[in-house]
Amino acid sequence: MFEALSGKLNGVFDRLRRRGALTEADVAEASREVRIALLEADVALPVVKDIVSKVRERAVGANVIKSVSPAQQVIKIVNDCLVEALGGGEGVEQAPPGISLQAASPVPILMIGLQGSGKTTTSGKIALRLRTRDKKKVLLASLDVHRPAAQLQLETLAKQAGVASLPIVAGQTPLQIAARAMEVARGELYDVVILDTAGRLSIDEALMDEVAAVKAATRPHESLLVVDAMTGQDAVQTARAFNERVGITGIVMTRVDGDARGGAALSMRAVTGAPIKLLGAGEKLEALEDFHPDRIASRILG
Ligand code: GDP
Repeated sequence: MFEALSGKLNGVFDRLRRRGALTEADVAEASREVRIALLEADVALPVVKDIVSKVRERAVGANVIKSVSPAQQVIKIVNDCLVEALGGGEGVEQAPPGISLQAASPVPILMIGLQGSGKTTTSGKIALRLRTRDKKKVLLASLDVHRPAAQLQLETLAKQAGVASLPIVAGQTPLQIAARAMEVARGELYDVVILDTAGRLSIDEALMDEVAAVKAATRPHESLLVVDAMTGQDAVQTARAFNERVGITGIVMTRVDGDARGGAALSMRAVTGAPIKLLGAGEKLEALEDFHPDRIASRILG
């Protein structure tokens, strides 16, 4: 992720470093180039404007042209602004990376997203991680009654992840399946229940109503929206719509392994207000990463 943006920004910084001493015009030129690089990376326009104006403001405030290593200062300022756009930074209250389990067992986690976003795969990835890393007893349940293969797909993933899946009972509604999952989890002392809701090809009222009803009934500790990073600004709009209508506690961005631009990641926090918590970086169940704004910014500035 971010290869293209990283290349462009490093080009800007190399030119600044070669100059040694900087003039105000050099700094203005660099911030114009940063702006173009961010736009080409498909970062949302308001976010680009915000980053660039912060860079300029801080460069003036820090009096970079008079400093000992002006290029280094500009790079640090851009880095800090990227960290902030990604949801981090000093003085910003940070939830710990990854998902939170700070609730009474069984902890319900609701998985939400459009069809094909990687929701079911991500449910399997989270289950595997909770079992192996956090030593949790995990139950996976598919509430997708619209796609007959969905429940079987989750069952297969559960086997691969070495966790249990809720036995499939034909004819139940999503709410009935969710209630049964919670009952089984309480009776059999599961630590976490991952509820994988149905997706649709696009956002529609029926999908929103169904997800909202399941959320109201199960009162999940985390409501994680799964979005495909490769869909760029569409992913950002999807997140905004789900957050406004259903309310989400965090975002998982998938297919970052195929996304060279990274615009969605940089826009997500500012546009939706919701934090990115995890990244999916491949089809394998092990390909799940915690999202650290500072590490991602360092990756961009490589
Ligand atoms: P759902 O409809 O949202 O449940 O989507 P699926 O979980 O079935 O995923 C759709 C496809 O995307 C599958 O072929 C997955 O293997 C693939 N996929 C999911 N996450 C990732 C990821 O992080 N990277 C890549 N490259 N593929 C992924």
